[in-house]
Amino acid sequence: MTTISIEEGLKTGEIKLLLGDQKNLDRDYIATIAAIKRFMERWSADRQFRETLPLDPYGVTRQYKLDIDPEEMRLLWDMEFLENYHPDAAIPLKVRQYDAYISECLQYREKIREQAVPIEPRLRAWRKRQIRRTFSEFGFEKGDSIVHAPFAIELSKGCSVGCWFCGVAAQRLEGIFYYSSDNARLWREVLEVLKKVIGSGASEGFCYWATDPLDNPDYEQFLIDFHAILGKFPQTTTASAMRNLERTKNLLKLSKEKNGDVERFSLLTLKDFDRVHQEFSAEELMSVELICQNDEASGGKAFAGRAREERFSKRMKASEQFSSTADAQIGNTIACVSGFLLNMVDLSVKLISPCNADETWPLGYRIYDQATFNTASELHTILKQMIKNHMPMTLGLQDPISFRPDLESERLEDDFYLLSPSVKHCFSDTPQLQKVLESAFGKNVTAGELALTLEREQGIPLSETLYYLNAVFQEGMINT
Ligand code: SF4
Repeated sequence: MTTISIEEGLKTGEIKLLLGDQKNLDRDYIATIAAIKRFMERWSADRQFRETLPLDPYGVTRQYKLDIDPEEMRLLWDMEFLENYHPDAAIPLKVRQYDAYISECLQYREKIREQAVPIEPRLRAWRKRQIRRTFSEFGFEKGDSIVHAPFAIELSKGCSVGCWFCGVAAQRLEGIFYYSSDNARLWREVLEVLKKVIGSGASEGFCYWATDPLDNPDYEQFLIDFHAILGKFPQTTTASAMRNLERTKNLLKLSKEKNGDVERFSLLTLKDFDRVHQEFSAEELMSVELICQNDEASGGKAFAGRAREERFSKRMKASEQFSSTADAQIGNTIACVSGFLLNMVDLSVKLISPCNADETWPLGYRIYDQATFNTASELHTILKQMIKNHMPMTLGLQDPISFRPDLESERLEDDFYLLSPSVKHCFSDTPQLQKVLESAFGKNVTAGELALTLEREQGIPLSETLYYLNAVFQEGMINT
């Protein structure tokens, strides 16, 4: 297929960027992309649509009131057509424009990950190690989808929605942090503390976790403070978008006024999806990502939290063998924070980072520490303590060399590998590193003990062993 790059398209004006500054955008261009987005949403959400479209593309598109030429878009929905498309054939302009929009959305994620970098050196180094660990643990595609936001704050305790697949296994709704004058004061002080500890990257935090943000009737007030203090209107993901249509429309309006990012509606049934398409125009939904969780949608669920429990209970019922190996293979996560998880109802804080859901961490994130606080100043002390206790800059002589449990080793001829369930790490470019790694892997020794042994037995200078061990530590392969 002949195509031109996004950069070339931008130069000629055929392609325009749509995320970021909304003020000077070309309305016709937005309308085109919005119509394609709506068509693709229907394709993802609705099995019947996927089954009938190939039989009568124009008739079915008309029936669903989609303002699009399905033949012009065939490359987006007909995989066989895509596979057989002649390499020299031109790609329709609208397909290229939509493709550019999707690339922009993916790059935007990368941008958020970069903006969320904390100023505190130990926190910054720790987060970097978590990012590398998750790339190793999950592989590139999943690893790249995690933004490692610096914090999430729950403004309720539990969630009223009760999705069967909830990846963080939210409990029943049992408390709400209202915007009373005392609470509002504490809220603003908490945000100031997070800003002090994290710096400008704190703007990439958000205000929900195992909660539906719209369970809190004062949610928007909290967001206005967030924007005033941290400089960004935080993203909302809600499964209750249709509970109060006027409220949801006002929230989108507020987000637009404050230059917010893309918001997200999680849709549990096809009926909900239909209603969203009915109540919101394609242009209104340009700033909304629809996450289709209904049975008719394509794609699966992350096997963490309740989805994981559900799968295991079905397996048990079917008398399938339940083993830790199977557990490791189907683990997953929806977690995206490497930093602090706060709950404003019980005034708790945890230090967390995403991982494959397993028996130890069934919710798909590790909890390194947790505490409760009564005041913002107590929270500040706790955060500093967590950083001090869990975020060394380097591996010390007394530290045990404890490799991540998901890693296995393999020797093939002259080469030594470390294998996660998703990635094979090869070190053949650095023979000395291979030697240190092979000597360290699976041994119950400290960094200092290993360095002394290798110096004595193999003549490897102590400093060299420590250098390589630290390199592996910075890659997130060694637990701390
Ligand atoms: S997935 Fe979201 S909306 Fe559903 S129960 Fe969990 S927290 Fe609530």
